[in-house]
Amino acid sequence: MGTLAEFELRLSQRGARLRSMADGSGCVYLVGAGPGDSGLLTLRGSELLGRADVVVYDALVNPDLLRLAPREAEFIYGGKRAKDHAIPQGKLNDLLIEKAREGKTVVRLKGGDPYVFGRGGEEAEELREAGVTFEVIPGVTSIIAATNYAGIPITHRDICSGFTVVTGHEDPTKETSRIDWEALARIPGTKVILMGVERIGRIMENLQRHGLSADTPVGMVRWGTTGRQETLVGTVGDIADRVRAQSFKAPAVTVVGDVVDLRDRLNWFETRPLFGRRVVVTRTRTQASQLSRRLLELGADVMEIPTIKIGPPTGRELVVEAMAGLGQYDWLVFTSPNGVTAFFDYFFRAFNDIRSLGNIRLAAVGPATAAKIANLHLHVDVVPQKYVASEVASAIHAFESVDNLKIMLARAEVANPELPRELSALGAIVDEIPVYETLIETQDHNGAATRLAEEGADWITFTSSSTVTHFHERFELAALRQKNPNLKFASIGPETSKALVSLGFEPEIEALDHTIDGLVDVLLSAEQSG
Ligand code: SAH
Repeated sequence: MGTLAEFELRLSQRGARLRSMADGSGCVYLVGAGPGDSGLLTLRGSELLGRADVVVYDALVNPDLLRLAPREAEFIYGGKRAKDHAIPQGKLNDLLIEKAREGKTVVRLKGGDPYVFGRGGEEAEELREAGVTFEVIPGVTSIIAATNYAGIPITHRDICSGFTVVTGHEDPTKETSRIDWEALARIPGTKVILMGVERIGRIMENLQRHGLSADTPVGMVRWGTTGRQETLVGTVGDIADRVRAQSFKAPAVTVVGDVVDLRDRLNWFETRPLFGRRVVVTRTRTQASQLSRRLLELGADVMEIPTIKIGPPTGRELVVEAMAGLGQYDWLVFTSPNGVTAFFDYFFRAFNDIRSLGNIRLAAVGPATAAKIANLHLHVDVVPQKYVASEVASAIHAFESVDNLKIMLARAEVANPELPRELSALGAIVDEIPVYETLIETQDHNGAATRLAEEGADWITFTSSSTVTHFHERFELAALRQKNPNLKFASIGPETSKALVSLGFEPEIEALDHTIDGLVDVLLSAEQSG
């Protein structure tokens, strides 16, 4: 057994990450983040993000990827879209070099593939010149991904046997253009143009002038591979008019050629049942994934706006003492999955061995909490039928008399006093150990809160009464509704609905089965019947 001071020291060493900062051997990783869908990041990219000290990311990078990096990492936004870079390119390179020289693992996340019109080449050259070690991790480029997600295969044996890619960044009418438009018009096969949505008219005229038929099919894919993908189809002759008529904007990939016609048959993405629906997910960042993943797979444009987050408790003394005195307890009681995560986070920082738990009995207030404990291959001795303080206490008491037994209640800093009161009434000696604190989330890590304010949404999903209250505190539901008359609320169950009703709103739908799957099911049938 260690001393309290030793425990204090070990608990304060936040997750010992292996790195060689002392010898100054940092490295810059230019990582292709893929085109938008977070599932298209490479395994290597994911692994590097997981141990980054500094992450510098571009505007076209899906900000949801940032969650793969350690929470303590430094996040730097490396540039706005188009002209006005947040940090000038030169300064950005200096920053990468400086951070690497401090011995840090620097991940430079770039949209698509780093070497495809992304200045990855220039950045790598500068790193080399500065003598900084670097690695370039390819990414799935929008050239093939955005087209694919629009139902357009870039080649097809029956149609063409090659493709050519150019940037539409340059003005095709200028003498200085480095693109041989004449050759491009003549070369057979699919043509792909990145950037240049604003110049599409001149580009198409130029191609026609050099002999490309006006009725060649053209597809333009905006925000490809994401829930807000939009596709515009036309011909070389009329696409510019369509762009104007629909106010179609960048960022988009333009694809020219007969493969565009295959879209009618191969459009697997835009035909998903929730495609184009903007659905807000209000759970904490760590809890959101299950709901978000299911919605994404159904094609929804998911906006994760967590309203609460979990932080360490204000004082660590009680946790430290609890860990040091763990052997004296008969029961360890958990009242939330977050409590389990937070407790074992401290536990494994203090001990290396699950057996240090000893013979302590375990109780969980509900199935989700019990599942979290079971993930550690620990048997949960008691899970009461209903989560009511008296039921929890009597369920434990039914297992064995708690008279004179020592019970640790590992839970949130501010929590309901009923459970400890009930247990004490049965003769138990109860210690309440705050292992985490619930805090209001005010940041907008992924830009979704800004998007909600600017573009609105179709649905807001609520998974607990506290997400309702906290979301309302941050966004004011009445004001949101006024701005978006079509905004609908989806509730996971009666408690959550009650919270909405008390604010004067009736949820449009309530899950029949009060689980995440149940919530997705009702949302899906509401969309399909509506
Ligand atoms: N390195 C990137 C390209 C950077 S240039 C890649 O490999 O994809 C920026 C241009 O890429 C945009 O103007 C647009 O033409 C295209 N682009 C990038 N992501 C896109 C997306 N999700 N959908 C459509 N076009 C995209």
